[in-house]
Amino acid sequence: MLGIYSFQKFSSLDFPGRLAAIVWFSGCNMRCSYCYNKDVVFGKKQIEEEEFLEFLKKRIGLLDGVSFTGGCPTMYPNLIDFAKKIKNMGFEIKLDTNGINFEVIKEMVEKNLVDYIALDFKAPKEKFYEITKNKHYEKFEKTFDYLIEADVEFEVRTTVHTDLLDENDINKIIDVLSKKGYKGTYYLQNYFETDKETIGNLPHQKRKLDISKINKLIPVEFRNF
Ligand code: SF4
Repeated sequence: MLGIYSFQKFSSLDFPGRLAAIVWFSGCNMRCSYCYNKDVVFGKKQIEEEEFLEFLKKRIGLLDGVSFTGGCPTMYPNLIDFAKKIKNMGFEIKLDTNGINFEVIKEMVEKNLVDYIALDFKAPKEKFYEITKNKHYEKFEKTFDYLIEADVEFEVRTTVHTDLLDENDINKIIDVLSKKGYKGTYYLQNYFETDKETIGNLPHQKRKLDISKINKLIPVEFRNF
């Protein structure tokens, strides 16, 4: 059964401007080659909701929010109810998502159950399946188009492993963001080198992205380059 895999007490970095607890949800509808969270992606529920909610009750006034990550949190069947309980305690919620489960994301936005969304733009359309093993680029695109119009703060980000994505691919993504009227900052995250086995058994990157070749049509920030 999918559910909470683990949680961490707080982080000042993960949820911009807020001190937040982080909850990892098991399960994912992608199989990204560079993913080193295999335990979470293929994992089952390890922790009951109540255990986390009890923990959170004791942090009212000490933490600002809760960051939902994974896996992909939208895979959790009880996400909406769980988010309501957290919001009712006065906490803000950040959602990390790959954007495939459009209906869940829309419901969270419409019911004011999410305050900030970090949306992964995994790859340009022609490389989307190769990198994620998910065929539904159009579902990601639907979520993105919806968030452009919706009244919720969100960021778009891409993890870069240069064996998978090069400067040309990134510039294609920037083109899409620019044409669709994305007004925020686009975050490029350098792949975190680890000795953990990745889903695609990827080796370490042979080179870093050449930042000078990245188009500056929109504001771009580089994390860990
Ligand atoms: S990196 Fe890919 S496979 Fe891993 S949790 Fe994120 S979306 Fe799922």
